[in-house]
Amino acid sequence: MKTEDVIIINNNEIASEIWEMEFLAPKISSNYKGAGQFIQIQLDPGWGNPLRRPMSIASCRDSKISIIYKIFGQGTKILSQKISGDVLNVLGPLGNSFQYKKNNLNILVGGGVGLAPIINLWKELDELRDNSYLIIGAKTKNEHIHSHNPDEHIYLTTDDGSMGLPGTVMEALKVVYENVKSSEVFACGPEPMLKQIQSFVIKNNIPAQLSVESYMGCGVGICQGCIISRRNYKNKNHSYHKKYSLVCVDGPIYSAGDVIFD
Ligand SMILES: Cc1cc2nc3c(=O)[nH]c(=O)nc-3n(C[C@H](O)[C@H](O)[C@H](O)COP(=O)(O)OP(=O)(O)OC[C@H]3O[C@@H](n4cnc5c(N)ncnc54)[C@H](O)[C@@H]3O)c2cc1C
Repeated sequence: MKTEDVIIINNNEIASEIWEMEFLAPKISSNYKGAGQFIQIQLDPGWGNPLRRPMSIASCRDSKISIIYKIFGQGTKILSQKISGDVLNVLGPLGNSFQYKKNNLNILVGGGVGLAPIINLWKELDELRDNSYLIIGAKTKNEHIHSHNPDEHIYLTTDDGSMGLPGTVMEALKVVYENVKSSEVFACGPEPMLKQIQSFVIKNNIPAQLSVESYMGCGVGICQGCIISRRNYKNKNHSYHKKYSLVCVDGPIYSAGDVIFD
């Protein structure tokens, strides 16, 4: 893990309120382990915004890193105003990465801002010529950056039915799973979505890895702001860390059976 002053190469709106930023980060790139890892971005060097903002790595190649982010509040608004040549202080790479077997028929599911690590994993698997399935959910068509193309194994969903399959990612997951009986599911998105995927995979006995995007302050295990309950907790004389997990240092990726969304 390193801090680095990274130089922004470009920062563009790629869909409604969804931005992609690419920057030069040779030090952080050299420690990158794979899709699922994230970085913590300092918005400005003063005390205006003391907490860094966590963002998943959407790609890492040739010393360049990209992120895909949605304007959510003040911090992401500030990020969207940065231009090519601006410098940001970034901490990373942080967290664990998705672990997959080659030649598996995987189903990748991304919802909302959970898109970034899933797109990264999709590209990683594509390079291995893995024939995976991609499911991306959004509220409406303007928030999508892909085209619905089941022939290419890309399934989009929209809550309002304006593109792809109407409904949530669960509708597409059921359709795809019924057809392929996939060997593993990988998902990232808002907690209600992860909760539904968790119930589905446990009920159908499908191995799955879920990337949890909880609020976090420091990103390095000090502030304890990002705890999640561990499942199958048996030992009553527990240590705090056996009962709870810190998403920033133990995660953000967990086996679906290991955590409880309260
Ligand atoms: C591992 C991880 C990866 C992520 N990847 C992406 C991504 O790829 N793309 C994307 O768009 N978003 C991603 N997010 C979410 C993103 O970090 C938030 O959307 C972003 O921090 C919002 O910042 P804001 O200033 O715009 O929002 P605001 O709501 O204005 O501010 C959020 C700030 O308040 C703090 N905060 C608010 N409530 C709490 C609370 N209950 N406990 C502790 N702190 C709190 C946050 O830590 C943060 O500093 C990720 C989050 C995590 C944890």
